Amino acid sequence: MPDHSDRLARLRRRLRGRSMYVSALPNIRYLTGFTGSAGHLLVAPDETTLFTDGRYRLQASEQTQGIDVEIASGDSRPALAKRVVALRLRRLSFEANRLDYDTYAFLDGSLPICRLDPLRSVVETMRMRKSPAEIEAIRSSVELNSKAFEDVCARIGPGWTESLVAAELEFAMRRLGAEGAAFPTIVASGTHGALPHAEPRARQLREKSLVVVDQGAILDGYCSDMTRMIALGHPDETQTKLFHAVLEAQVAAIDAICPGVECRTVDNRARQVLRMTTVEGIRLDTKFSHSTGHGVGLEIHEGPRVAPRQRRRLETGMVVTVEPGVYLEGLAGARIEDVVVVTETGCEVLTRTSRELRVL
Ligand code: ZN
Ligand code: ZN
Repeated sequence: MPDHSDRLARLRRRLRGRSMYVSALPNIRYLTGFTGSAGHLLVAPDETTLFTDGRYRLQASEQTQGIDVEIASGDSRPALAKRVVALRLRRLSFEANRLDYDTYAFLDGSLPICRLDPLRSVVETMRMRKSPAEIEAIRSSVELNSKAFEDVCARIGPGWTESLVAAELEFAMRRLGAEGAAFPTIVASGTHGALPHAEPRARQLREKSLVVVDQGAILDGYCSDMTRMIALGHPDETQTKLFHAVLEAQVAAIDAICPGVECRTVDNRARQVLRMTTVEGIRLDTKFSHSTGHGVGLEIHEGPRVAPRQRRRLETGMVVTVEPGVYLEGLAGARIEDVVVVTETGCEVLTRTSRELRVL
């Protein structure tokens, strides 16, 4: 059980006497343990109150400790506003990158003497460095995700469609104990693989094609994320060249990970490798259309971003994906993705599944 009181204390230190309204559910979960789908959290200097509705009466009291829980009938925002008025707060920070406009307008109208202060990514920044317990939770999620991949890979046969592979992967995750998939599973064969976020189709996997499989599970709230490449039939020269360039780029980016290195340096390392390879006259770095990686934790995409121009330095305990990809329209796509934790001496790759091309 994580120490939520410690997290709340750390947040209060960052707020330096200010009060904050936390609206993002993953942030509420991180700070209190509450996993319900509706809730609003008020963190004032001397009290913490979770506002939710009757559906979560039992769950909120079981999941949280040391904070007040107020149950409203229906919408719990009026109860939050009432509490802010009762506390005579003159300033209330809110999550500018998270709050929806309707809630902002409601609070603005309900709190005439309280100034609403936009704050950005305060809890998200705290969440970037994972505790040892969080790293173990992510490791378990990563292991489950890999098991699901092996289970399905061993069974893929003639006639299987992209949709069937995706459905079997998600079924396997659930069967192995996951709460569900962390995002809609991507299975894209042949030219479809050139779409970085392809949606699986009810179309049979093409013979002699490369298949991109990008999958993630949620276990005990923590996400995993992995991309592997499958070849149906023996890969041709172009497919082999494309795959090995992406693999080399991924390994080079992972090798660059250590505490203190800027995220953009890791991203650039992958691009440098791809810059040196051409396939069908195309320089591969020109077809790497997304960033190299992202943080992963309670959410599938969180900080830090491993991307060009990102000067944030990696710190021990940060968990990021490394996933360079190349997308050649009309031909094929390739991506390889692992989850990596930054350690004192460098990094540890949590994903244990072989990165080699699976030839089926
Ligand atoms: Zn992924
Ligand atoms: Zn990813």
